[in-house]
Amino acid sequence: MKLICIGRNYTDHIAELKNEKPEHPVVFIKPDSAILLQKMPFVIPTFSNDIHHEVEVLVKINKLGKHIDTKFAHKYYDEIGLGIDFTARDVQNELKQKGLPWEKAKSFDGAAVIGDWISKADIKDIADLSFSLSKNGKIVQQGQSSHMLWTIDEIIAYVSQYFTLKIGDIIFTGTPAGVGPVASGDQLVGELEGHQLFSIKVK
Ligand code: ZN
Repeated sequence: MKLICIGRNYTDHIAELKNEKPEHPVVFIKPDSAILLQKMPFVIPTFSNDIHHEVEVLVKINKLGKHIDTKFAHKYYDEIGLGIDFTARDVQNELKQKGLPWEKAKSFDGAAVIGDWISKADIKDIADLSFSLSKNGKIVQQGQSSHMLWTIDEIIAYVSQYFTLKIGDIIFTGTPAGVGPVASGDQLVGELEGHQLFSIKVK
């Protein structure tokens, strides 16, 4: 399975990193080896001194699909989740400057936190999800899916032009503002629509 990630999908986050607003979604992939195993702490890798949290709404693909039309995209997922796209910001900045791919900054072991899943049927309005990330009990990121530049259905349609979507693939839909560093000892808790979907210890 693969993790398909969208960058720069919230204007407030684009502004905080001084990026340009993209014309098309920014897409990158994490391999399944990047998934942080359940109940395990996130261990800060030795190659970075600036690991950032990026809390993101997740979508789990439930059907094989390619060239999916936006209006049928809702048929390709039943569950919504929440996760973290851990990013070695120092490594990413260096790669960006050189115009190189981001994998070393985004796709390392443990860089993908995948929380529990909520059935779509139990969610009032997918276009208006509230979610947050707390660090040591204090909210550091707060998002509304209504502020996405591209909706979940538009993202599915877009990425399926390039990648066949397979059952179990997961889409990371981008992070709102408030990204910031994590340190050893931090506790990160993610909530979506009032449900706590993950709690991660940083080591
Ligand atoms: Zn991200």
